[in-house]
Amino acid sequence: MNVLVINAGSSSLKYQLMNPETGDVSAKGLCERIYIDGRLTHKVGDKKVVKDIPMPSHSEAIEAVLDILVDPVDGVIKSVDEIDAVGHRVLHGGMKFSDSCIIDDKCIKAIEDCIPLGPLHNPANLMGIRACQAVMPNTPQVAVFDTAFHMTMPPKAYRYAIPTEYFKNDDIRRYGFHGTSHKYVARRTAELVGKKEFKMVNCHLGNGSSLSAIKDGKCMDTSMGLSPLAGVPMGTRSGDIDACVVQFICNKYNMSVDDCLTMLNKKSGMLALSGVSSDFRDLSEGVDNGNENCQLALDKFCYEVAKYVGAYAAALNGIDVLTFTAGVGENDHVVRASVCEYLGFMGVKLDPEKNKVRGKEMLISTPDSKVQVWVVPTNEELMIAQDTRDLVLAARK
Ligand code: ADP
Repeated sequence: MNVLVINAGSSSLKYQLMNPETGDVSAKGLCERIYIDGRLTHKVGDKKVVKDIPMPSHSEAIEAVLDILVDPVDGVIKSVDEIDAVGHRVLHGGMKFSDSCIIDDKCIKAIEDCIPLGPLHNPANLMGIRACQAVMPNTPQVAVFDTAFHMTMPPKAYRYAIPTEYFKNDDIRRYGFHGTSHKYVARRTAELVGKKEFKMVNCHLGNGSSLSAIKDGKCMDTSMGLSPLAGVPMGTRSGDIDACVVQFICNKYNMSVDDCLTMLNKKSGMLALSGVSSDFRDLSEGVDNGNENCQLALDKFCYEVAKYVGAYAAALNGIDVLTFTAGVGENDHVVRASVCEYLGFMGVKLDPEKNKVRGKEMLISTPDSKVQVWVVPTNEELMIAQDTRDLVLAARK
């Protein structure tokens, strides 16, 4: 089966054509500068093609993707009919989606209803869906939600301690994000440890970061909230912050709440503390050159990640496995070592040699560590492709 995985942003669209059985990616790429001018970067194996193609909307971007996929020189399929299904990443499924779903009018209406909860992403995701429907009307499409994996959280984890009317009337609660990644890592870890019933904390540490407490494959708690701003500090996001900081800054600097939130989302986190960069590679370089602000940013990050792991270990009454994934979690051994050092009290012991691993599945704890620590590279596209395959095959029956 060939599944086209689409991740549509407001001015960009990422795609992968993949086999959900093997995980093989036959082609992948990115449309950028949609609505501005338009550029397609297409990769098949090591070969990369970059083309400037006018993209006045997401429709032209999808058309450009399909054209290059069937191109006699740069393509990988003979006809668009060889695409069996399309899987779309959708940011916010609100309380309406606890799983992926086949896209029909009802599903589209529900994604629209979630726009107030995901005002930046859901409209872009919908544009990607509509563009695909227009150019490939007979190909089944599936929506895979970033929030769905977290819908198993109990009320004590997802409710905010604010007046009930905001929950009842407006669906204000913790949702959590990176769900596709947490789900992939939870499933893969179950295969790696050879068990279905165990307790784990997954640390998805990338440009955006979130942690999830997972019991027997089900999410029990997660660090992001109504939006991806909550939880640990991130590349450019502050993470958890006292709401009175917003009030203080807005009043003192005559700033709107929206502008203040943009500051907390885009100009905070590692970028703000280091004054240098949001990229952890730059922070390490800064530390090597004696930059104390870069050291503070990294210290703060590892400290907060370790605090969340400790909190989730308490929430689950102990954990069996700790996993690290995403750009930082898979590659940055210094961050992993620093987080695990805080967790020595729970019997976490890293093997320093094994911990040097980058981007590969690996058990990095010592045999006598009370908690197994693994690096498990995430694969959100594969998870989307597999959910898409499962739903499309079930619908055919
Ligand atoms: P996103 O949240 O955008 O999906 P990723 O999971 O791809 O991000 O993570 C991107 C981040 O991973 C980069 O900003 C960078 O800080 C970090 N990163 C990537 N490679 C390395 C590396 N070799 N060492 C340390 N950090 C890395």
